[in-house]
Amino acid sequence: AELFLPERRNSHGFDLHHTPTLEEIDAAREPFHAHCWQAAPLIAGTAAPEAPQPVANPARPEDSPGTVAFASAADIETALAAARPWKADAATRAQVLNRAADLYEAHFGEFFALVAREAGKNLVDAVAELREAVDFLRYYAANIPDGAPAGTFSCISPWNFPLAIFTGQVSAALATGNAVLAKPAEQTPLIAHRAVQLMHEAGVPREVLQLLPGDGRVGAALTSDARVNGVAFTGSTETAKLIRASMADNLEPGAPLIAETGGLNAMIVDSTALPEQAVQSIIESAFQSAGQRCSALRCLYLQEDVADDVLEMLMGAMDVLRLGDPWHLSTDVGPVIDEEARAGIMAHVTQARAEGRVLKELPTPNAGLFVGPTLIEVPGIEALEREIFGPVLHVARFKAADLDRVIDTINATGYGLTFGLHTRIDDRVQHVTERVHAGNIYVNRNQIGAIVGSQPFGGEGLSGTGPKAGGPHYMPRFCAPDRQHVDA
Ligand code: GLU
Repeated sequence: AELFLPERRNSHGFDLHHTPTLEEIDAAREPFHAHCWQAAPLIAGTAAPEAPQPVANPARPEDSPGTVAFASAADIETALAAARPWKADAATRAQVLNRAADLYEAHFGEFFALVAREAGKNLVDAVAELREAVDFLRYYAANIPDGAPAGTFSCISPWNFPLAIFTGQVSAALATGNAVLAKPAEQTPLIAHRAVQLMHEAGVPREVLQLLPGDGRVGAALTSDARVNGVAFTGSTETAKLIRASMADNLEPGAPLIAETGGLNAMIVDSTALPEQAVQSIIESAFQSAGQRCSALRCLYLQEDVADDVLEMLMGAMDVLRLGDPWHLSTDVGPVIDEEARAGIMAHVTQARAEGRVLKELPTPNAGLFVGPTLIEVPGIEALEREIFGPVLHVARFKAADLDRVIDTINATGYGLTFGLHTRIDDRVQHVTERVHAGNIYVNRNQIGAIVGSQPFGGEGLSGTGPKAGGPHYMPRFCAPDRQHVDA
């Protein structure tokens, strides 16, 4: 009952099969095709940021969507000193967050343009991104728990969901009454800057929500100051470990760390699966968002009896994927985020090529940071030393008798974020979903795109600390621990 509140509905998004809707989107984005945004610290005091630097468009080296001025050490100090919890009552906070959601929706053209030009995400992604951001705002507004705020929360968010995850962390912290210091990913400060401007416009006080754009140095400062009472982080497992160590050394004991990190996600397709449905799910799970989701499918297990047939169909489906500038309405796969990401992915592909394990590789355009969707054969998931955060899918074969061994191998990676299963056998659904360790398990569908309020999202083990975002257990973690329980 908690998850389906009658007074709140998820946003309806946009129907991209409807030509007038596409025309409406195109017209709303057009004024921002060559717009130059400027991001800078938004703090309750006078900012003295570093010199502005250009922000890149990963699809088009000749385009820059704007500039960013990183927060200086003085700006961080000003923000920490000025931060104040949100004194307004819960009903008022909810009202303001709902107003922010309305403002986000009203600015869809600008956000779709930003998502394409700053983050390299295509229109399907842009629609999902805005929907999720709006849904987080309204879901958290509708479900504010009792309890005092922790105090000041640092929210450190990733570039792959520059609006949705940024907004999700910040709105959960705000809904519960915390002061928020938000540090967006260094690659995507422009979207975050617009989002914070709209939240201020909606009525969030400036000393309650402050934006500190910057690189890892800003993040380090925001996770090592005793005036910070909790941290929400989405990003790599390595960074989460550094944050945890820094918090243990510098913050009060018990300060919450809400971390959502990487994954090595698998899907199992058995011989009873519907091949067309499985292939559609595989394409979406591995290549939507150019594979840059932590939920994305990395290792596909095909039962050997059907492996050749499914692979043939899969490679045919890869052939019709359109790689290119995400601004174009027809683009299926956009660029990866930056040169470092591209180089890391290509090093992996180059090695697989040298070992003769590449089954299929789509050609890559010359300009822009593109990686052609690639299919690589592996003996099993244990062959993957790290998460390859891009449009690269690994495929392994298994015998029916080895199903449990396969699941144990998947569990042994230590990650546990998403998992997919395609089968027509009910008992197998039961058996596999009980045995596999993953936060989000999807059966006979894709394994990305968790929906706020109905599919709370988050993993276990190396994939995160829990609680799941967009679910009932998330916001209580942003509240002060109950002192009486601590003292008892
Ligand atoms: N929530 C997203 C999904 O379900 C993934 C979030 C992420 O990549 O960090 O696909």
